[in-house]
Amino acid sequence: MTVDLYSLPVTKVSGVKGKKPEELLALGISSVGELLDYYPFRYEDYTLRDLTQVKDGDKITVQGTIAGLPQVQMYGRTKSRMLCKIVVDNLFISAVWFNRHFLKEKLTAGADIVLTGKWDLKRLQLTVSEVEFPGKGASQIGTLQPVYSITGSITQKWIRQTMQQALLQFTELIPEVLPPELLRKYDLLPRKHAVTLLHMPGSMEQGQRARRRMVYEELFLFQLKMQAYRALNHSRADGVAHPVDLPGVRAFVRALPFTLTESQKNVLAEILQDLQRPHCMNRLLQGDVGAGKTVVAAAALFAVVKAGYQGALMVPTEILAEQHKRSLDRLFEPYGIQTALLTGSLTDRQRRDVLASLQMGMVDVVIGTHALIQEDVFFRKLGLVVTDEQHRFGVQQRSVLRQKGMNPDILTMTATPIPRTLAITAFGDMDVSTLRELPKGRKPIKTYSVTPNMLERVMGFIGREVAAGRQAYVICPLIEESEKLDVQNAIDVHAQLQFEFPQYRVGLLHGRMTPGEKDEVMREFSAGRVHVLVSTTVIEVGVDVPNSTLMIVYDADRFGLSQLHQLRGRVGRGEHQSYCVLIADPKNEVGKERMKAMTDTNDGFEIARRDLELRGPGDFFGTKQSGAPEFRIADMVTDFEVMEQARDDAAALVGRSDFWTEAVFMPLKQYLQREHIFNSELLD
Ligand code: ADP
Ligand code: MG
Repeated sequence: MTVDLYSLPVTKVSGVKGKKPEELLALGISSVGELLDYYPFRYEDYTLRDLTQVKDGDKITVQGTIAGLPQVQMYGRTKSRMLCKIVVDNLFISAVWFNRHFLKEKLTAGADIVLTGKWDLKRLQLTVSEVEFPGKGASQIGTLQPVYSITGSITQKWIRQTMQQALLQFTELIPEVLPPELLRKYDLLPRKHAVTLLHMPGSMEQGQRARRRMVYEELFLFQLKMQAYRALNHSRADGVAHPVDLPGVRAFVRALPFTLTESQKNVLAEILQDLQRPHCMNRLLQGDVGAGKTVVAAAALFAVVKAGYQGALMVPTEILAEQHKRSLDRLFEPYGIQTALLTGSLTDRQRRDVLASLQMGMVDVVIGTHALIQEDVFFRKLGLVVTDEQHRFGVQQRSVLRQKGMNPDILTMTATPIPRTLAITAFGDMDVSTLRELPKGRKPIKTYSVTPNMLERVMGFIGREVAAGRQAYVICPLIEESEKLDVQNAIDVHAQLQFEFPQYRVGLLHGRMTPGEKDEVMREFSAGRVHVLVSTTVIEVGVDVPNSTLMIVYDADRFGLSQLHQLRGRVGRGEHQSYCVLIADPKNEVGKERMKAMTDTNDGFEIARRDLELRGPGDFFGTKQSGAPEFRIADMVTDFEVMEQARDDAAALVGRSDFWTEAVFMPLKQYLQREHIFNSELLD
């Protein structure tokens, strides 16, 4: 009978009492297993160093003999500087202490001493932070000491001792989860050795070896969960096998005002295949801004409606909902397909009407914001849910639908251009389709980065484009003037532009306007009756007005790279040459890097790569909403190759029949059980 360390309370470790259990809980630790899984984020190096091998400024530990009397200089009553000569390997060095003159009594000439501190190579001087006298009490000489992230009254010393105590009591109970074949394949340490070495490494090499094992384990378990979920989902026939009318869809595509790109055709074919299968589609469609995702979604919705089901299109903003409604109506009208809008700005009466029509099946496709598939919304026969722009359709929402007896196919569209490989790994439970090319005939957007003193020329540029019949966006970071920030605000800029261009209509759009007001401005801009639109970033995602050719961004250095790329994606959508002008403070160094990336390339995937470099993966994926996993020890970027290995290993294992029967894989199956894979309510 093995003991499950995760159900053993942390108070079983001697010394964990009083307020400590509660403070450990704040770190997410309530069981012995969780304590042992709480890894240090770095190590203090107290291994003894050879002074001839040390670089200037290094933090080092050395052992020597005290070679003289300490000299103390006092500055006021508490501040002091103490100097003492030490011999280390036949070399005389000076040790310096600041404000620690009370140690003077302990520094007797001829005694052995171990010093840790920062090395000044030029002066042969060590600024001491820690001191030890060999042979007196517990020693950290020659060791690597783990450094943990801590809070409250928990100290490094306490958690180090507690961890050692826990290892003393429980090491033998740490179970192995990885099967022997994988341990052999990558020459990985057994789990209990790896855990011990992570907390108490004898050397950096050992620590690294332990880390390698745990990184693989973490990524492998994550991938196993994803791959198992996918495999189960694909083998379960609880979705709708839509009888897709392929000639009908082909006719719909032929009637479009343009020919689909090869990418669009391929992706649509993948989706149509999924729709015809009896399992639930769970597909991510990613494509750069302007790649033409909407029309692919429209064709998929068309196919589902023709097969006798309803569709839903979910978007993040009302502006986008209105826009999609307009373009779908244009496409669907000849086929008698009924659409409806369901947003927060409907009156109660309108809302009740839409809900009733949905439930009775009088509406074929509903377009709306997030509330669309929740609460009191019922469909007669929901077949497909499409989510556009940054909405990841999580398990929670899937289960809301399941509870209503619906199990629709799901298509998630995103223009946040995640490098494909990262997408596969971070969203491993989904199939990924990518639009690789932009529609033909698009001229690459010309991007310029300018300084604020060139504003007059920017105004001239706006004037010329509008005179030529085009439209322009002007983006500001703030709505109103702010005392704290010296940045442009939309209301002021709007007033300025109205003054500058009395002959044109200048619109204003920001998040504090009512949905009705916003929609009105957007409609006027779409129709070409507003020539210049001053806006905050509410315009950022999805908006499509092909006649606009100029995107001006004030204080561009205040925006992130992906956001700038999204903003730029509002232009370059039609046949005319488009421009993006970024007005940036030349003194902002980080901003400069971003401006360089923007002027270097129009390619969203390249932008994403640079963004990842500049920001790191945590920031890149943003909030938990993106659904990207957070890892305890692995790093999605630097450990990427391991992630790919782990994915292949996990996929191969899940596909083998002995995985489901053999006893060596029992710990993995138990893990999947704990993660609720088998009742299909996975993840998030
Ligand atoms: P996004 O992928 O950013 O959502 P949209 O779906 O808004 O892009 O499409 C951008 C513009 O390109 C729209 O005006 C759309 O009508 C147009 N478009 C889409 N596909 C094609 C195509 N194959 N050829 C020409 N224009 C297209
Ligand atoms: Mg879009």
